Amino acid sequence: MVYETPVLWYHHHRKGMSWMSEELIITLDTGMQDFPNVGESRAKKLEKLGILKAEHLLNAYPRGYEDRRQIYTIGEAPLGVRVCISALASEHPRLSHIRKGMELVQLKIVDGGGAIHVTFFNQSYVQRALRAGEEYIFYGIVEEQGRRRTMTNPIFERMGERTVTGCIVPIYHLTAGISNHMMSLLTRRAVADCANLLEESLPARIVKKHRLMGLVDAVSAVHFPDSMEAVEEARRRLSFEELFYLSIGLDLLKARRVQGQGIALSPRNQSDFDALLSFSPTNAQSRVMGEIVRDLVSGQPMNRLLQGDVGSGKTVVAAFAGWLTAKSGGQTAMMAPTEVLAEQHYKSLSALLGKDGLRVGLLTGGQTAGEKRRVKAALAKGEIDFVVGTHALISKDVTFLNLALVVADEQHRFGVHQRAALTAKTDGDGEISPHVLVMSATPIPRTLALIVYGDLEVSVLDELPAGRTPIESFVVGESKRERMYNFVRTLVSEGRQVYIVCPAIEEQDLGDDAPPLNLKAVKDYAVQLQQEIFPDLTVDLLHGKMKPREKERVMSQFFSGETQILVATTVIEVGLDVPNAALMVIENADRFGLSQLHQLRGRVGRGSYKSFCVLVTATRNPDTMLRLKTLVSTTDGFKISEEDLKLRGPGDFFGSRQHGLPQLRVADLMGDMRTLSEAQEAARTLIERDPQLKKKEHIMVYHRVKNLFSETPDIFN
Ligand code: ADP
Ligand code: MG
Repeated sequence: MVYETPVLWYHHHRKGMSWMSEELIITLDTGMQDFPNVGESRAKKLEKLGILKAEHLLNAYPRGYEDRRQIYTIGEAPLGVRVCISALASEHPRLSHIRKGMELVQLKIVDGGGAIHVTFFNQSYVQRALRAGEEYIFYGIVEEQGRRRTMTNPIFERMGERTVTGCIVPIYHLTAGISNHMMSLLTRRAVADCANLLEESLPARIVKKHRLMGLVDAVSAVHFPDSMEAVEEARRRLSFEELFYLSIGLDLLKARRVQGQGIALSPRNQSDFDALLSFSPTNAQSRVMGEIVRDLVSGQPMNRLLQGDVGSGKTVVAAFAGWLTAKSGGQTAMMAPTEVLAEQHYKSLSALLGKDGLRVGLLTGGQTAGEKRRVKAALAKGEIDFVVGTHALISKDVTFLNLALVVADEQHRFGVHQRAALTAKTDGDGEISPHVLVMSATPIPRTLALIVYGDLEVSVLDELPAGRTPIESFVVGESKRERMYNFVRTLVSEGRQVYIVCPAIEEQDLGDDAPPLNLKAVKDYAVQLQQEIFPDLTVDLLHGKMKPREKERVMSQFFSGETQILVATTVIEVGLDVPNAALMVIENADRFGLSQLHQLRGRVGRGSYKSFCVLVTATRNPDTMLRLKTLVSTTDGFKISEEDLKLRGPGDFFGSRQHGLPQLRVADLMGDMRTLSEAQEAARTLIERDPQLKKKEHIMVYHRVKNLFSETPDIFN
C-alpha cells in the first residue's frame, strides 16, 4: 500500500502557481536542497536514498507502478479496492474537533448518479483546499455502511491535473519522512526540466540495431509512462544499457587476465597424484584435472570456476592443483568461508598431501597470536607449500615467498574483491598473476554464471563418485516428531551419526521482523535432546558464535565418531565432510531457502551408507510445502537452484552483493535473459572492433564502464 500525503500538493496550489512553472530551472546538477519545497531536513532524508541532486532523481527508477488510469463514476465504482472517482464537491467541507487533537473534515461529493460521504482525519487544510461546486478526482477506497457510501482520507486533485490520479503512478523506494507523492513530484519536476540534458552513451548503431528507445524517452517513460507497454520498452532499454556496460567490463577483465603473465608450471603425470588417493577419481574429476593442468602449464594465469554439486569431490581437484603447483616449487593458498571448514580441509589435505612430503599449514582468525606468527613466518620463508585458511589469509601482514595458486572454496561467499586481494599477494610489481581456482557448490544456469563469474572459465563436475546411494528425503509435520526421534535412534544404533539443524542459536534470536514463532534454537534444543529424548546417547552442539577452540573440539569429536548427534546451526552448511553421518534432520525447514536446504542435505550421503534427510515443519502454507516437496522430489542441484532462482530472484539468491559485481538497478537477470544475451553480443562485437575503447565514438562507453567498475581498479590498466 502506498502512503501519500497531499500536503505538498496543497502548498503549491495555495501559492497560486503550479509546481511545474516555478521559476527556478533545474539542471542535472541542481542540489536537492535547492529544489522548491525541499529544505535542509528533507534534503538530508533524500540523501539516505542516495539522492543528492536532480540527476540522481532521474536515476532512481520506480520499483513498481500503480495503474490509476481508470476513472469511475460513483455508481460504477467497485467497493473495497482503491479507485479513482470523478465527482463534484457538493458542499463546503465542515471542520469539527471531536476530541483533543482529533480533527475531522467532512463533505459530500456527488455525480449525476450518486453521492459519497468523505471524511478526512487530521487534515484540516482540506477544508480550504476543496471548494464547493468544483470537480475533483478522488483516489481511495469506497465502502458501504448501510445504504451510505463512504470514503476515508482519499487523495485528490483537480480534474485534469493527472499527477496522482487518472494516470500510471510510479512507486518509489522511500525512507521515513519522504512520501511517494513527494518523490513523484520532485521527479516530475526533474524530468520536465532536465531529462533532456541526459547524454546518450550508447553508440547510435547499437541503439538502432537493437531497436532501443532513446535515453531521454526511456527515462521519462520509466518514471511517468503513458502505458504499461511504454514501461516495458523503457525498462528493456535501460536494462540493456546496464547489462551492456557490465558485459564490456567483464569481457575486458577476462581479456586482461588472458594476456597477463602467469606462472608456467611443469606438467606431471596425473597418475602420480592418483596413487595418493584411496579411490580412483571419477571421469569428471579426471577431465577437470586435465583442464587445470593445461591452464597451469600454459604460462597464462588460470582463472577457472569449478562447479560441482555437493559431494561431487571438488576438494580432491583442488588438492591436485596444489600438488602440481608444489611440484614446481610454488605455494598454494586455499580460502574457506568458515573456520570449521578450513580446519577440516587442513586435516584431510595434510593427510593426503603429507604422504608425498608436501607441507600443509592452517591460518585462521581463531588461532593464538603465536600460532599465527609461526605460520606467517613459514609462509614468508616458503616453508609451507599449501596453506588453508579463512579471511585471515587476506590480511595485510600475510606474505608468501612465491604464491602461485589461489583456491577459493564455496565461492558464493567470497566476492570478486576478496579474490583480488589474495591474487595481489604475488611477489613483485603485480605483473605476474597467480593462478586462480574458484570452487562453488551452487550450480547456476550458464548465462547467469557468465555474469556472476563473468571473468572466469567454467569447469563442471557433473558426476558423483560411484557407490553413493541417493539420499532419501521426507517432509514431516509435528505429529511425526516421535517417529522422527525413533528413526534417529535406529540409525545411531546401527553405528551412524546424525545432524540436527536449527534456524536459531538462542531462543528469540531472530531479529526484528520475527514474530514469536516456535523456532528451534540450538542451545536449548541440544539440552532438551540430551536430557529428555536421548539421555543414553551423546549429543553435542555447534554454532557460529562459539569460541574457535570450542568449535574445534566439537568437530573433532564428531569426526572421530564420539559424538552421535550434532545439533547445529547452518554453520555446517558448507563443505563439512563426515562420511559416517547418514541422517540430516532440519527443524523449521520452512525457514530455509531451497539451495540452502540442498547444501545442508549434502552433508549426508557422502559415504557408502544409505542416507536420509528429514525436513520438519509446522507450516500449512501451500507455497512453502510446494517448495519443500521440490527438494524431496529431486537431488539434482541444477534443478533445485533454478527453482530457487525463480522463487527468490537473483538478488536474494546470491546474497546482497556478495558476488562483488556492480549493483544492477533495472536489469533482472532471470527475467531479462533475452536482453542479457543481446547485450552480451553487442558488447562482444564492440570490443572486437575497439578492444581498448579508444575510438572517438566510444568515449562515453569508456567512461561508463570505468565508472561502473571503479571499485575494480585494474580494469583499464
Ligand atoms: P564437495 O564437492 O562437496 O566439496 P568433497 O570434496 O568434500 O565434496 O568430497 C565428498 C566426499 O567424497 C569426500 O569424502 C571425498 O573424499 C569423497 N570422494 C571424492 N572423490 C571421490 C571419488 N572419486 N571416489 C570416491 N570418493 C570420493
Ligand atoms: Mg567442498
